[in-house]
Amino acid sequence: MLDQDLLDLGLKFHGHKCPAMPMGLRTGLAAMEALGVERAPDGQLVALVEIDEDHCATCFADGVQVATGCTFGKGNIRRLGYGKFGLTLVDKRTQRAVRVVPKGSVMMKNRESEFMKLRSSGTPASQIPAELVDPLIANVSAAADEMILDIGEVTDHEWHDGPHTFEAFLCPECGEMVVERNARVKDGFAVCRPCAER
Ligand SMILES: [Zn+2]
Ligand SMILES: [Zn+2]
Repeated sequence: MLDQDLLDLGLKFHGHKCPAMPMGLRTGLAAMEALGVERAPDGQLVALVEIDEDHCATCFADGVQVATGCTFGKGNIRRLGYGKFGLTLVDKRTQRAVRVVPKGSVMMKNRESEFMKLRSSGTPASQIPAELVDPLIANVSAAADEMILDIGEVTDHEWHDGPHTFEAFLCPECGEMVVERNARVKDGFAVCRPCAER
């Protein structure tokens, strides 16, 4: 059973009601439980999500971010672009990982719901009546892990972060801060990329 506070936080962060975001919460929580880890305050965990862009149920990744603390801002979530819904959660401390994936049958059942029919005909999720979406959220929230998720074995998984830079400068043309390694040279001066390409 999904914790109501976490669901509320997810809904607030995500912005609308849909079944894919809570599925991301459940998937993230199951992966954390399998690894025996807490939500990442810094970059302790890395989430590898298999979604691509511009397709059904990408909302899944917002649930993963809220549950695991692997966020776009911290840079510890990566999109693999397979157009699938697997999550591989890596624990950097122990160099172990687990892959958790929502069952295909459950994802397809949500896809065939009245909610998704309206979504695919262009209705924004926020304008779909609560009575159509609330039962989908309740099902995803209440189902036992083994009914909705396939949880893999915990395996060894080497992870090494790339270099993290704190170096930055002010672009002389636009006056905005730029990370140094993103500089371009224009007429002998280091500038930001948009100014270099102007
Ligand atoms: Zn959504
Ligand atoms: Zn500039």
